Amino acid sequence: MRIDKLLANMGYGSRTEVKKMLKKGQVSIDHDVVKDGKVKVDPDAQQIIVQGEKVEYRKYVYVMLNKPKGVISATEDPVDKCVTDLLADEYRLFNPFPVGRLDKDTEGLLLLTNDGQLAHELLSPKKKVDKIYWAKIDGQVSEEDVTQFRHGVQLDDGYMTKPGELIIIKSGPVSEIELQITEGKFHQVKRMFKAVGKKVVELKRLQMGSLKLDPSLSKGDYRELTVEELNNLK
Ligand code: URA
Repeated sequence: MRIDKLLANMGYGSRTEVKKMLKKGQVSIDHDVVKDGKVKVDPDAQQIIVQGEKVEYRKYVYVMLNKPKGVISATEDPVDKCVTDLLADEYRLFNPFPVGRLDKDTEGLLLLTNDGQLAHELLSPKKKVDKIYWAKIDGQVSEEDVTQFRHGVQLDDGYMTKPGELIIIKSGPVSEIELQITEGKFHQVKRMFKAVGKKVVELKRLQMGSLKLDPSLSKGDYRELTVEELNNLK
């Protein structure tokens, strides 16, 4: 990668600012001062120093967001606020994208990364990655629903869902549940409840694979994954 592009991507300044730093002799690669922005560098193998400080290069970023309602799971939108708009520039520089989608009115765990390989593995239907949701349901969720979900329910387009593990936390005119599913069809949780004549009024994702929403994250807050969380996910 070109040194000027790398430094600009890492937030050392605009391409023009980086060019000026290079010209002033403030950048070195493996202890040789580099003044030409076109010089190629391998940041994994070479040591880059800018203004006397070692550049800590990393290719990927992994961020856990507690998605609030009202923002969409996208990177750009002409109308709505996007999940990436919630991130500080130091993360946005990596061009992260959401791994899968939560509806605009759904809250909870959303992983943002620029690691396409990991995203692909977490989203691939073949991998059957578990997703756990908490929901408030308008209607009395019954043991019959639990059995139906375990066998699969037929969605409005005729699709028969794979087994889902439904746990009733509170049953009443408004119920509370947890649901574990291995698929990620469009509006899946809402449509599964619609299939048994009930309506989801609040939805929050708690877990995706081994990754659990950090309960200390307030709505709209985020943090990078720990090394352990990342290793468990891979
Ligand atoms: N299922 C839904 O219906 N909505 C979501 O946002 C996620 C799963």
